Amino acid sequence: MSQVDVQISGSGAVASSLALALCQQGLRVALSPARPPGDAPDVRAYALNAASRELLLRLRVWDALPADAVTPVYDMRVYGDADDAALGFSAWDQGADALAWIVDAAELDAVLHDALRYAAHLQRSDKSQPAAALHVLAEGKDSTARAARGISFERHSYEQVAIAARLVSDRPHEDIATQWFRSPDVLALLPSDRPRGGASFALVWSLPRARATELAALDDAAFESELAQATQGRCGTLQLAGARASWPLALALAGEVCGPGWVLVGDAAHVVHPLAGQGLNLGLADVATLTAVLAGREAWRELGDERLLRRYARARALPTRLMAGLTDGLLHTFATERPLWRELRNRGLTLVNRAGPVKRWLTARALGH
Ligand SMILES: Cc1cc2nc3c(=O)[nH]c(=O)nc-3n(C[C@H](O)[C@H](O)[C@H](O)COP(=O)(O)OP(=O)(O)OC[C@H]3O[C@@H](n4cnc5c(N)ncnc54)[C@H](O)[C@@H]3O)c2cc1C
Repeated sequence: MSQVDVQISGSGAVASSLALALCQQGLRVALSPARPPGDAPDVRAYALNAASRELLLRLRVWDALPADAVTPVYDMRVYGDADDAALGFSAWDQGADALAWIVDAAELDAVLHDALRYAAHLQRSDKSQPAAALHVLAEGKDSTARAARGISFERHSYEQVAIAARLVSDRPHEDIATQWFRSPDVLALLPSDRPRGGASFALVWSLPRARATELAALDDAAFESELAQATQGRCGTLQLAGARASWPLALALAGEVCGPGWVLVGDAAHVVHPLAGQGLNLGLADVATLTAVLAGREAWRELGDERLLRRYARARALPTRLMAGLTDGLLHTFATERPLWRELRNRGLTLVNRAGPVKRWLTARALGH
């Protein structure tokens, strides 16, 4: 006899969102206690799509976020190697409320943990692992429970590192996200209202490992000067507003995402390059799908029934593989320095910019439609 219905191991945004969603269904959930925060707060901001926002609204988390922790993106500009190779997306063209919402990562975590304190039917205990019909592994990319079950997780290192930091500018961000694909770097400036309302950016700069190490060794003034060169003043004069942090980048997919009595969600199941800002969006889509599959089960079916869990695996297989393929393909197209490729991708940007249907398709994927 199970003491709880579902046991969730992990303490990131995906584990917390799933716990809230399953508690809303009236299931008895056991969730690992939060790990003590690291030495430094998370400097990142997530670009979340409309589907993620909808889920967080349903979980009553979105409206609890402070106003300056969420910035809508109405326009996006993408630059290639050449100045005239540019691509523009707009929420207006897409008929959408916004292309994405930039959400402060540390604040999202705090609001999720606050919401969990009030969730009915939730147990948080590390002492004993309660028996549960279903064990959800939401432990992130380095999941030990996944390894203990012998589930393969094939990693392909990009030999790249993402540097993230908060910046302030002397120019307003105007709710525009800007991205540069300049081989081999990918640099994104996401509009943010923290720390300076209307004039801050969250930086994600993906670079080859050696170059990232060089940049990490620079003092703030020298780093800002490299940034000025890379962004050519398009977003104003940028200054660091805090510490820089870095993450090694890889593509990884689990060999299996479910089995009898267990299922993988979030980065424990898939890790993609952050160039399209889609990792957490994929994880929250896992949460929405798993929640719907469990809610729709036949009255006689156990929560851990593999046939039931396969419905979740089938529903998530294509979107996950598409996003992994898209981010990987984009990176390889833009990372190569061969002149012919450079020419082709710059022409490609201009062509896509002129091709309405292709642009609409790409935007719809990013919006989570
Ligand atoms: C630089 C960068 C920028 C990014 N930008 C975006 C973006 O703009 N948009 C987007 O959608 N995605 C983005 N991502 C991806 C996003 O960060 C991840 O996809 C997301 O954080 C995955 O969430 P998760 O909860 O699955 O895993 P994690 O965030 O890794 O959380 C899992 C947590 O569980 C803890 N844990 C493990 N085992 C246990 C246990 N037994 N008990 C308790 N806790 C445990 C781990 O320590 C970890 O803290 C970005 C990633 C990077 C590196």
